[in-house]
Amino acid sequence: MQEEKRVSMFDNAVKQFDRAASIMGLDPNLREVLVKPKRELIVNFPVRMDDGTTKVFTGYRVQHNMTLGPAKGGIRYHQNVTLDEVKALAFWMTWKSAVVNIPYGGAKGGVTVEPSQLSFSELERLSRRFFYEIQVILGEEIDIPAPDVNTDGQVMSWYMDTYSMSKGHTSLGIVTGKPVEIGGSVGRTEATGRGINICLQEAVNYLRDKGKLNKKDEEITVAIQGFGNVGSNLALTLTEESKMRLIAISDVSGGLYKEHGFTAAEIRALMERTKNRKKLLLEVNEEGYKEISNEELLMLNVDILSPCAMENAITIDNSKDIQAKLIVEGANGPLTPEADEILLSKNVFIVPDFLANSGGVTVSYFEWLQGMQWDFWELEDVRKALHKKMTSAFYDVIKTMEKYEIDMRTAAYIKAIDRVATATKLRGIYP
Ligand code: GLU
Repeated sequence: MQEEKRVSMFDNAVKQFDRAASIMGLDPNLREVLVKPKRELIVNFPVRMDDGTTKVFTGYRVQHNMTLGPAKGGIRYHQNVTLDEVKALAFWMTWKSAVVNIPYGGAKGGVTVEPSQLSFSELERLSRRFFYEIQVILGEEIDIPAPDVNTDGQVMSWYMDTYSMSKGHTSLGIVTGKPVEIGGSVGRTEATGRGINICLQEAVNYLRDKGKLNKKDEEITVAIQGFGNVGSNLALTLTEESKMRLIAISDVSGGLYKEHGFTAAEIRALMERTKNRKKLLLEVNEEGYKEISNEELLMLNVDILSPCAMENAITIDNSKDIQAKLIVEGANGPLTPEADEILLSKNVFIVPDFLANSGGVTVSYFEWLQGMQWDFWELEDVRKALHKKMTSAFYDVIKTMEKYEIDMRTAAYIKAIDRVATATKLRGIYP
């Protein structure tokens, strides 16, 4: 049973690529170059635990493509991290940077660990030693890590410090997602959620223009799965900046439902209470909210659903019961290829992950520019620049979608592949 379910995430990602490659008529020689990761590093490293024992952990850094610029992508800590998953995520980073038109390649890293089982000082020792181990392939203009699942500004601070100590000077450009006090950018923490909201709003405008959505903002209902950095900041920008009704949110502990919709003040209070890895349901026990399961959240009769938790949340088993007409993917890979097909056949409009959640890496790019120049921007400038990048990426993809009469995911791949393929052809194959 278990065996049958173990599908390679990387193979699934390549299937998406191949669909786009065949529609755009990509040269098969280039296909090989663009699919394979450039470098895959596996490290096994010891960490001294608080009880005096030593444990060996396994971690990865995969640099998928570095044609457009330095490799870029987050590092996640999770018990299910595998090389296959990190390869898929690095692959998506290449297309994410390319689709939003920033001069980066794609990379990703991860450590197979359940971080909630570690004390704060164990987490610090693990983070520093892991970063030291992968430093052999990193650099400010080579490969620049960032936060991902279960890593945050504190972890980035340790990474930056570890690298800086070994160089003998402070190196701001080595990681992004740093706290603003040590060279991070204002607006980076909220960036992925804010960027998803930009795509969500533009998708609604587009569907209205096409006569496929005849509702005013006040009548539109939204459900968000996931209340980590991505889901919570999407919830916040959505409730702060639009009149749409956010009626359900959830995290691993379960979900909350509110018929008339959450206010921005309520989302802010929930974010405050779930800070420091606390769980939503365990922290909230109040009247006015109805508890629902994660599975129920996905099936709600809402107009818009945004899966912002982990990969493969929507599968062949539950996709038939999804009622939303618009899905904006906040997580990386929340739909299996089968679920994607089923939902497309039901005419669900899907804004793909690597476009919808590219706000994070976009503001990471702004942070890197600021750090390399030791010159820092105002929040208003960061938000404006993010909005400009994301809306132009959104409509670039829409144009490609209309030109080829295809779904938005395949269109996003075509746009991104075209940029990297053109650069590869111009640069040529060395020697
Ligand atoms: N981990 C984030 C992502 O998947 C951000 C990557 C970055 O900022 O480099 O897009």
